[in-house]
Amino acid sequence: MATHNDTLDIAVLPGDGIGREVAAACIELLAATENVAEGPKLRLTTHNAGAQYYLESGDALPKSTIDACRSADAILFGAMGWPDVRLPDGTEIIPQLDLRMEFDLYAGIRPIRWFPGLPQILSDDRSRQTDLVLVREQTEGLFYARGTGTVIEDREALDTMRITREGTARVSEYAFRLAKRRKDRRGSARVTCVDKANVFSSMAFFRKVFDEVAASHTAVTSDHAYVDAMALTLVKAPWTVDVIVTENMFGDILSDLIAGLVGGMGMAPSADIGDNHALFQPAHGTAPDIAGQGKANPCAMFLSGAMMLDWLADKYEDQRLELRARLIERAIEAAFAAGNVPIELKGGSGCAEMTRATIAAMPEAIRAVA
Ligand code: ATP
Repeated sequence: MATHNDTLDIAVLPGDGIGREVAAACIELLAATENVAEGPKLRLTTHNAGAQYYLESGDALPKSTIDACRSADAILFGAMGWPDVRLPDGTEIIPQLDLRMEFDLYAGIRPIRWFPGLPQILSDDRSRQTDLVLVREQTEGLFYARGTGTVIEDREALDTMRITREGTARVSEYAFRLAKRRKDRRGSARVTCVDKANVFSSMAFFRKVFDEVAASHTAVTSDHAYVDAMALTLVKAPWTVDVIVTENMFGDILSDLIAGLVGGMGMAPSADIGDNHALFQPAHGTAPDIAGQGKANPCAMFLSGAMMLDWLADKYEDQRLELRARLIERAIEAAFAAGNVPIELKGGSGCAEMTRATIAAMPEAIRAVA
């Protein structure tokens, strides 16, 4: 078992736009958890990266930041990129993709759960039971083409999808282990392989490897869905979905769709998990349209912070960290119940108000979860 010496090092990369705003709010929130709950201290150290830093330094992801991420216990990430800031080849600054490759963060975990206070987007009341997790493969798939696509004589363009046995097996494995852990709470466990196996040989191979992994997880039900059918299910009956595992590009698209089920990107946390490192970030980007106005919803970042605490709790087998994760979730729910609704969800609370309300709810929330 890994051990910690009662202080955990967290590399914080706030980035650009609302990434900076929600990261600052999350630092405040995590510090507040230490005032009401026991457990190791988090030493949160901020590091440079992103589009703004690229303008200042000519480097979007300096080596010193990569080194700090490598030696940290976990990475907490805001958001990076800015439409006007481009690399010489015209592409946007996306250091999060470089970090995924650098640390082999192959499993993108995107949980979506409805709780009282959130808008009910779908008219069917059963949508309140929505509690699903999308697991996105993030080191290959169609994103493998990033930086390697070709344009032939200004006539046609080609991007290649890459699916490997190892890449598919490890992300499927992760999805089954996750489903098994959720089984205690839900009473059942199912992993759905989302693909387009009826059209592409790469996707038929993805399904074949998934089935091989499924065969060694008999306690978990497994099934398949084509990505188009799953898009429909996620809109018509998301409460029927448990864990889904899918290729990189499909996962990219479906994760925005599922964020819509709970009101928007500001409610959608995520974790990028590898065998040795993990990065936690809201599923949203830098939102230039609202940046600098104090309107950002910090809940996705807060919930990503809770996912980080859960991952650290697992890594160090320290239940005090898990309790702090539950504390954050409970405090967010209590802030909503007390009438604080983010501007994104048509309420009146900006980033600072939501942060204050969530922290204010902690003393009571700790009694509820302890
Ligand atoms: P990317 O291309 O990296 O996804 P983006 O800025 O184009 O970045 P997002 O930031 O993911 O797209 O979100 C799209 C829109 O959703 C934003 O323009 C903004 O209006 C809204 N949005 C996203 N995150 C939040 C948030 N935390 N709080 C409030 N609104 C948000």
